[in-house]
Amino acid sequence: MSAIYNPHLDDQLAAAQLPVAKQFIDGAFVESASGQLLDDLEPATGELLARIPRGDASDVDAAVTAAWKAAPSWGALPASERSMWLYKLADGIEGRFDELAVLESRDTGKPLSLARTMDIPRAIHNFRFFAGAILHEEDRALHLPGALTYTQHKPVGVAALISPWNLPLYLLTWKIAPCLAYGNCAIAKPSELAPLTANALAEIALEIGLPAGVLNILHGLGPEVGQALIDHPRIPAISFTGGTATGRRVAQAAASRFAKTSLELGGKNPNIIFSDADFDSALATTVRSSFANQGEICLCGSRIFVERTSYFPFVEGLVDRAKALVIGDPLADGTQLGALISAAHREKVMSYIALAESEGGRLMCGGGIPTSLPESQANGFYLEPTVIGGLPFDARTQQEEIFGPVVTVTPFDDEREVIDWANSVPYGLSASLWTRDISRAHRMAGQLDAGTVWINTWLQRDLRAPFGGVKASGLGREGGHDSREFFTDAQTVCVKIDL
Ligand code: NAD
Repeated sequence: MSAIYNPHLDDQLAAAQLPVAKQFIDGAFVESASGQLLDDLEPATGELLARIPRGDASDVDAAVTAAWKAAPSWGALPASERSMWLYKLADGIEGRFDELAVLESRDTGKPLSLARTMDIPRAIHNFRFFAGAILHEEDRALHLPGALTYTQHKPVGVAALISPWNLPLYLLTWKIAPCLAYGNCAIAKPSELAPLTANALAEIALEIGLPAGVLNILHGLGPEVGQALIDHPRIPAISFTGGTATGRRVAQAAASRFAKTSLELGGKNPNIIFSDADFDSALATTVRSSFANQGEICLCGSRIFVERTSYFPFVEGLVDRAKALVIGDPLADGTQLGALISAAHREKVMSYIALAESEGGRLMCGGGIPTSLPESQANGFYLEPTVIGGLPFDARTQQEEIFGPVVTVTPFDDEREVIDWANSVPYGLSASLWTRDISRAHRMAGQLDAGTVWINTWLQRDLRAPFGGVKASGLGREGGHDSREFFTDAQTVCVKIDL
């Protein structure tokens, strides 16, 4: 958790020799103009982990100047050369794999095993994917008698890339890679709650000699440095991932000056399980989609609808498995659930558990702070995996994003009913549908309000596919050609041909 710099924590930091991040502007590490710092706490222990600059509008101005200075020559490089730089960034991350996985785990509270199998590999893959993709792009040529019309994709120039704390390097590189690949310079702002792997990425950019100004990384608070980025008149594109309330601010700021936006926002995703599904596979995946990363993944299935004929055995299995999850030190072997990102976030999640009870919900497991943690973790922000039943589909607990290890379970009787319930929330990010009836699966997929529908699976991704949400889950798509559309402007050129 970030807080304004507390000088009493200095000694702890010096003793532990932990990182002090800096702004990365114009190819160099610099202090923020304000000279102020923020504390970055370790969720598993509640102790100081690092300090980061408290950036402001002056830092944004410096980064914008640097990025525009670099933009013409970066955008003019042949795709093969930009591709090479992206491969070098990927190799740089891979070369520091173990260190980055530990840093990500300590900064977020997520199990090290997850950082090693998901976060860091995906960050590497993001760069390699777009490094390859830009070598295969084509433009269109349209023929009419007397005219040849063709399109070309011009870089937007400079983009602001703002990301959340739950998948820090994974999501920031999901933006940086296409931004750079398609010829733009980036000003990236990681979350102040989990900034350390972004700082390491800046070190890698410096080590490999990435041209100055191509990648700038700014730290600080959202309402300060983040707001200055979205308001800046010389930033024509903003790719934002985070909460829906913040996304609304971004949309408003961008609309007033016609900046392009891509908004990847919150979710309240349904898992729909029919009785004809592969029970074991549906159950095992539902445990994962409920509690992976402590439920702090925008794609987690937080509303579990089970066909009534299978409801009791399924919920019994889910509760048994939730109780058996190993919760504790994220760095320890065998840990399945780590700590939530901050004390404030845990309070918010717990307030939803209290709300559920006041709405008539029944706690089937969890609901509290684990009591069996070792002393070193006693001040960490842990929370038991929690399953709640007995709530109507329109209870607030079933409508609002909780973003923690808390799921609701609800029986349903038929297809129409569960589609209506699934679509009743303001969100529409993803859905996971479990059935062996192929026609039903396809029929329902099209009827669900969701940017992504998984059938008999969850979280499998092909980076060529469009990713994004509908309704309050966002605007626009990222991935493959959609990232190209966002980070470039298509230009049409029409040439008259004398016949
Ligand atoms: P958040 O909205 O609080 O913060 C996200 C980022 O925005 C941070 O870097 C923050 O500093 C910055 N920010 C805050 N206020 C700002 C402002 N006024 N102007 C500009 N930037 C500002 O979100 P969070 O708590 O970090 O992340 C959790 C949320 O992110 C959840 O709602 C989750 O569903 C969502 N999320 C969505 C996706 C997706 O792909 N759709 C992926 C991951 C997380």
